[in-house]
Amino acid sequence: MPEPLASERAIVGKLVGDNAESWDLAGELPVTMLRELGARKLLCTEAPASYGGLGSTSRQGGEFTAYVGSLCSSVRSVMTSHGMAAWTVQRLGDPAQRGSYLPRLTSGQLAAVAFSEPDAGSDLSTLRTEIRPDGDAVLVDGQKVWVTGARYADLLVVFGRYGDDAAAVVVPTSAPGVHTEPVPAPLGCRAAGHAQVRLDSVRVPASAVLGGGGQSLPLLVTTALAYGRISVAWGCVGILRACLSAAVRHARQRKQFGKPLAEHQLVARHLAELLAAEQVSTRVCEHASQCWDSGSPDVVVATVLAKHVSAGHAARGAAAAVQVLASAGAQDGHVVARAYRDAKLMEIIEGSNEICQIILAQHAMTISD
Ligand code: FAD
Repeated sequence: MPEPLASERAIVGKLVGDNAESWDLAGELPVTMLRELGARKLLCTEAPASYGGLGSTSRQGGEFTAYVGSLCSSVRSVMTSHGMAAWTVQRLGDPAQRGSYLPRLTSGQLAAVAFSEPDAGSDLSTLRTEIRPDGDAVLVDGQKVWVTGARYADLLVVFGRYGDDAAAVVVPTSAPGVHTEPVPAPLGCRAAGHAQVRLDSVRVPASAVLGGGGQSLPLLVTTALAYGRISVAWGCVGILRACLSAAVRHARQRKQFGKPLAEHQLVARHLAELLAAEQVSTRVCEHASQCWDSGSPDVVVATVLAKHVSAGHAARGAAAAVQVLASAGAQDGHVVARAYRDAKLMEIIEGSNEICQIILAQHAMTISD
């Protein structure tokens, strides 16, 4: 069977090439490269063709995301953030909003999603950002932290309070009152453009409030995070594939005690565990994407499961790959060193390990006697 989105993989392969190491060391991605990916509709492949996207299935988009993740987790992170913004507009926006924003997000403009605040991380019910009507506009006030891709973004999808309810509003980063400050020296995904964003009485038209506002916060958050989780999960599959391939290559070539590392059983065990991790993570991601594509009510749990399983495997698998390469991989920028740092962050974002476990435990309570 041909690879899904084969020609798109070739394009991204050429644009990213072997630059991930130097981008990681520089802590920055070339914005022109990101805009080209966006203009070729590759930052949100699932956006419908009627709005300028490729209309890929989640399964196709997932395998594509894994491929990008195997090349560069920083690019994959920007892609997840942008794709989550596009999905939020598609899901929560009215037809006029979809028609206004989605063609921009499939033609080179970049977007990011801002939930987290200094005092609202895992518990987003405590978020304080305010979106309040002001004539035919709304004013947005608040402080967001760790917004992936915000350094490169033209548009931010900002979540906040809206009276007694909640809303998501699209804010141009060029609007007066938007202040963006890069997160200094992040542990991983160093070139993903993480930034803190301050919004000081930012005035945008009321038509920028997705769906008119007044929604429940859990609904808004779950909608956006479902996309983010599945995308991160597929990205972790990519990390595992890159680690497996680097570890196998090294274990074949490097000899110690008169034979290749792969012939030492304790090293071979790492390879076996990496293969198992890659296979298991791929299967849970395929399941989540199938649920997504078929509109199954199980999709929320399936995306949490995929993200939790894949992130854990990626973190442990990347550590195993560093162990196999030892000093050969113990340098910043090296594929397994990047994977080690990047994968750890996957256990924190889009619902930390613990938050995923809480959701899965609640699900277990509903389905088991
Ligand atoms: P806290 O919520 O303070 O949690 C600290 C620890 O306590 C964690 O281990 C957590 O699992 C645990 N914990 C918390 N509550 C419980 C509980 N009830 N039971 C058990 N354990 C618990 N935010 C955005 O809005 N947009 C982005 O694009 C974005 N990108 C990010 C990218 C990176 C690389 C990182 C590191 C963060 C990003 N974030 C983003 C923020 C991210 O969503 C939060 O870091 C995450 O939700 C966790 O919040 P916190 O860091 O405040 O940790």
